[in-house]
Amino acid sequence: MNQARPASAREPTKERRPQFWQVAKRCCQIAASVDVAFFFLFHLLGSPILAWVNVVSVAMYVVAYRALGKKQNGLAIALIWAEVIIHAGLGIVLIGWESGFHYYLLMFIPALFVSMQVRAAVVALAGLWGYYVALYLLLWFVEPLQPIAPGALLGVYLFNLSVVFAMFSYLSFFYLTMVTAANKKLQRMATTDSLTGLFNRRHMTYLAEKELARFRRNGNPVAFLVLDIDHFKAINDRYGHEVGDRVLEDVAGIIKGGLRTQDLIARWGGEEFLAVLPDTPLQSAQASAERVREALLAHDWRAPSGERIDITISAGVSEFRGNDDLNSAINRADRALYLSKERGRNRVELEAV
Ligand code: GH3
Ligand code: MG
Ligand code: MG
Repeated sequence: MNQARPASAREPTKERRPQFWQVAKRCCQIAASVDVAFFFLFHLLGSPILAWVNVVSVAMYVVAYRALGKKQNGLAIALIWAEVIIHAGLGIVLIGWESGFHYYLLMFIPALFVSMQVRAAVVALAGLWGYYVALYLLLWFVEPLQPIAPGALLGVYLFNLSVVFAMFSYLSFFYLTMVTAANKKLQRMATTDSLTGLFNRRHMTYLAEKELARFRRNGNPVAFLVLDIDHFKAINDRYGHEVGDRVLEDVAGIIKGGLRTQDLIARWGGEEFLAVLPDTPLQSAQASAERVREALLAHDWRAPSGERIDITISAGVSEFRGNDDLNSAINRADRALYLSKERGRNRVELEAV
């Protein structure tokens, strides 16, 4: 226990945002390529110190990249930080604020919040701000140590600006993709049942209410099926909960396969399913329920041991009526389901007229 805690505390972000570290790897590659370009550029511009700084920079990015590969994220971040801070500082001090090297520091602002806990990020941000202001003030009072020709300075500025534009665009695109994916996942988790992938009860209620509103507008028939696996408790008791879960998944798949794509299907309770069939009169819904019941019956159910399992389903069918509310329509299908159970199971019953 005591050993595990500091290890996880050292790299708290590793588990939380794996995508970020993928992007950090990509950024190492991009930054190293930019620094190779700088090496030749500054040689051409007659600024050998800045040229050779880039050799060190590339080496740092290579080490950081490999550290990320080994999940040594703390080391990698320290190297990337050190590289950018020293490199930007040297660029500014040697050839001036107009070189645009300070823009690279701004790229840390979003990255800090993604890679750290909020409190640490705020502290680092304050430090970054202080460093940025200090560099600016320094160059306000002191001349650059190794100035280059104005045309060359303009070239370096435009190059740096373009790299920072490109990197920010890449990072923004990455954040957008990450947020969109996270939202989708949340949406799926909030609306579906994790075992069967069908809608959960809450979302089904919402969708069924919308169908009810549509029914009130256009009067098209809407049917309800309540389906319940017969003697499911016995299957759990005999073969175990895991086999029970596999059966639930397969039953869900068979129900889905037996209905149309526009039909809404939910896991309504433990081994009970609700389907809402838009534009479907009672008799067609009954036929659909029969189709599902027969498909389940025809399926070759087997326990892991190979032993055959008998799985059957009972169903109750109802349809929306004028002045209905959702509960009363579902209750009528429920009562029809109980009738199926009473009359021997493995059958479909219609609501009482
Ligand atoms: P009936 O034919 O009258 O419907 O009998 P039944 O045994 O199917 O009905 P009962 O309500 O007595 O038992 C339902 C069982 O479903 C009990 C519960 O353990 C099981 N169950 C509910 N949810 C799950 C689940 O997610 N996984 C598994 N494996 N079993 C579940
Ligand atoms: Mg049951
Ligand atoms: Mg039940």
